[in-house]
Amino acid sequence: MLLVTCPICGAEGDETDFHFGGQAHIARPATTNPEGITDAQQREYLFTRINPKGLHFERARCDRGCGKWFHIARDTMTMEIKAYYGVTELPPPDIIAQAKGGWAELFAERTAHAKKTK
Ligand SMILES: [Zn+2]
Repeated sequence: MLLVTCPICGAEGDETDFHFGGQAHIARPATTNPEGITDAQQREYLFTRINPKGLHFERARCDRGCGKWFHIARDTMTMEIKAYYGVTELPPPDIIAQAKGGWAELFAERTAHAKKTK
């Protein structure tokens, strides 16, 4: 059983009290440029996921309390939840530092983009 705490309202429960929404941090090109989306961008959005063994980042909605979405950093080997954070945020820096493979690449890209826009 996975015990989850909503970072927004504090509701606690097992995984059945929360609605899991798949991988976090998916770029949704149709929301920013619906006319200019390419087939490759749409294919990437629909089918390509980062799915490593170990640290993983996923979306969840609080069905027991506030009904809002948030992100969870979870180790898929130990089921340990490492962090909760908002849907518009990146994970805490110490968690990003533990990311490997596709996650490390994604966060390096997003962190560089965030620094450029500041
Ligand atoms: Zn909540």
